[in-house]
This record gives sequence, structure tokens and C-alpha cells, in this order.
Amino acid sequence: MNTIVTKFGGSSLADASQFRKVKEIIFSNEERRYVVPSAPGKRNSKDSKITDLLYLCHAHVSTGISFDDVFNHIRDRYCSIVNDLNLDFDINEHLDIIKKDLEEGASSDYAASRGEYLNGLILANYLGFEFIDAKDVMIFNADSSLDTAATNSALHFKLSKISKAVIPGFYGADKDGNIITFSRGGSDVTGALVAASINADLYENWTDVSGFLMADPRIIDNPKPISKITYTELRELSYMGASVLHEDAIFPVREVGIPINIKNTNRPQDEGTFIVKDTDGSMKPTTVTGIAGKKDFTVISIAKASMNSELGFCRKILSILEQHNISFENMPSGIDTVCFVIQDSQLKNKKEVVVEEIKRACNPDSIEIHPNMAMIATVGRGMAKQRGTAAKIFTALSTAEINIRMIDQGSSEMNILVGVENDDFEKGIAAIYNAFN
Ligand code: ASP
Repeated sequence: MNTIVTKFGGSSLADASQFRKVKEIIFSNEERRYVVPSAPGKRNSKDSKITDLLYLCHAHVSTGISFDDVFNHIRDRYCSIVNDLNLDFDINEHLDIIKKDLEEGASSDYAASRGEYLNGLILANYLGFEFIDAKDVMIFNADSSLDTAATNSALHFKLSKISKAVIPGFYGADKDGNIITFSRGGSDVTGALVAASINADLYENWTDVSGFLMADPRIIDNPKPISKITYTELRELSYMGASVLHEDAIFPVREVGIPINIKNTNRPQDEGTFIVKDTDGSMKPTTVTGIAGKKDFTVISIAKASMNSELGFCRKILSILEQHNISFENMPSGIDTVCFVIQDSQLKNKKEVVVEEIKRACNPDSIEIHPNMAMIATVGRGMAKQRGTAAKIFTALSTAEINIRMIDQGSSEMNILVGVENDDFEKGIAAIYNAFN
């Protein structure tokens, strides 16, 4: 029998009616054996995510403010799920322990993780599946990074003996038992690790949209859906802001070649998007698969005559960035110029000192700083073989009267990146989208 790992996001488990949809989905295919839930998300646009409320509880405790009101709200949400589903399950017993732990100074990771923990307990009870506490199978190092090898073997060992289980997403524990979480949205990563550890046939990621769209629907009306995309294309797009899946969720399954299917809990009949191996022969190479981008970058442009023959020039700049703990996104270069594209948040309060140090170490002819830049990525695995793709992008931008401030084509030749002013960002995405549709 095939094995499918299914991860359900917060909106898919926000209340009892969503739980019912989830059960129907799981029971409609017995290959769906391992289920990874998020914490209850928002039921409507004015609602709160349980994870946010749990962080709030922790913040209240740390500042000595009573967290009773917030905690009661959390309690109500879980109790109404349990009651509406008619479960014979005492959720209050677990909530009481968590409340006490928080009062006694439990960490913020512990607080946040309880959203998934409680949802996992409820879902396991509702499905009649075994509950596996993620603290026993997601193993973190003391520095809060994941111990991938230990996690893989703990999962493998545990799941080889259990045929149907619920494993809450988002958290694990270090070797001393301290709870550690992934970054926000990290249940996607848990699902990917579970799938990889048992070499699943498919990793389904259920959310509230029917897969990826070619562009952000807040910018483009009814953008086309993407039915198939390769891991590499998706990595380029999600890194540039197209968010449906946590970016770290791609690596574990990509390594072992497990396809991911993004599905919509509210429209299970929709096919969603399949994310597949780069070498999947069944795909015809699309010139442009998707367009995504982000605002608020600064470009530092450095020029020096004969830079190309000066040994160690870029190394000196890179060391300065490293010493200041600044990571850069792109580094386009010419013979006598090099640019560093850096997110504004990375440069906060460091811009002047970094520029001074570069001047001192490299003695450049000029350094220019261009703030308020947005980066737009046009991604497609077929563009390397398709003449005129870049021309089409640049013509579209020029027709829309957008000044291109920077151009970079990744070495994979499946991404053409342009830098434009922040104010031109939405107009730029629309111009490129319309040129290819
Ligand atoms: N509940 C966590 C969050 O809101 C993790 C997740 O949903 O994946 O970030």
C-alpha cells in the first residue's frame, strides 16, 4: 500500500466544521496514514490564530500581567471543538497543565507549541489514530537547529511500528527535553520531515487555497493556477515572496524525490499544485511558471577601475558583511562594478558603518546606495531554451514606463530578476504577467 503524509494548516482545523472536512478527506483514502496538524487558525478575518494568543500569554507572564482572559479565550476555542465534535475527551486536564507551566515560567517556544500539541491530541482522538508527541521524534540541537539525522532515525523507528498516527507540527525538543519550535509556519517542515523519514509516496499539504497561482491575487485579478512546478522553481518563487509553503519544507522531500501536492480543504475536488522533481519528464517546460517579488531592499553599488584584476576585492567586502552579520540576497557584477542586494531589515542601523569599512578596506572609486528597491523574479524552467524571454520582460516593463534599476539572471537560467523602485512593484508584476498571458 502507498503511504501519504497529510499536513493540515491552521485554517483547515480552525473549528469543528473544519475538523469534519479533514476527517472526511483522511478517511476517503486509506493511504493517508500519517497526519500532521497545525494549531487552530483564524475562522474569519477578524479572528485570532491560537499560536498568536499563546505567544501573547507568554508575553503577559513575562511582563507580570494577568493572562487569564487570553487563556480563557484559548480554552473556549478548544472546548468548543471538542464539544461540537461530541468527543469523550478531557481537554481541560491538558489546558490546566499548560496554564500551570506558563505560570511557572515556561519558555515562549513551549507556549507556542501547545497550539499544535492540543490540536494533535484532539485530532488523534477524533480519527482514532495514535498520538505521537513531536517532542519525541523532532530532535533539535542545543543551538535550536534541527538534528536532521537524529530526527530521521527517531521518526523512522517510531513510525515503522505504527500504521496510522497524528504527529503535531511546528515543534520538537532538544536532548534535554526543552521544547523548541521551527520558525512560524513550521508545521509544513514537520510534514516534510515525516514524509522523508518513511519515504512516503506523496506529501499532501492541505490549506485554504487550491495550490499556487502564477502571481499574487492581491495584485493580479484571477491569476492562472499552476498545476505542476518543480522544486527548484518553487524555491525561487517562495524565496521571492510567493508564500503557501514554508521555504524549509522543500528540502527534506526534494532530497528523496517525494512529490508535494498543495490541496484545498474547502475544495478537495480541485487538483491543486503538484511540486515534482526537476527531472520529471511528464512536464512540458513552461517559459514562465510564476512571478513573485518583495519590496524593501537596498542595493550597495561599488565601482573601482580594474576591479577584475584586484585579487581579494570581493572577499574583503564579503568579510565586512559577515562581521556585521548581514546576509545579502544577490550579487550582480560587471568588470569594474559589483552590487550587493540586501534586505533593509538586515542593514538596520548598520548602513553607515558598513559603507565606511568598505571604503577603508577597498578604496573604491565610488559607493552608491540605492534604497527603496523592490525585486521581481520571473521564474520558468523553460526560459533557458526560449529565445526572447528577457526581451519580453524588459519590453513589458519599459512599455509600462518602469525604470529597471538592476538585472540579474541566476546561474540556473530559470529566473530573471529585476530591481525596480518600490513604487513600481505592483505595476511591474502586472506588466510582466500580462506579457506572458
Ligand atoms: N501554528 C504555527 C504558526 O502559526 C505553525 C504553523 O501553523 O505551521 O506559525
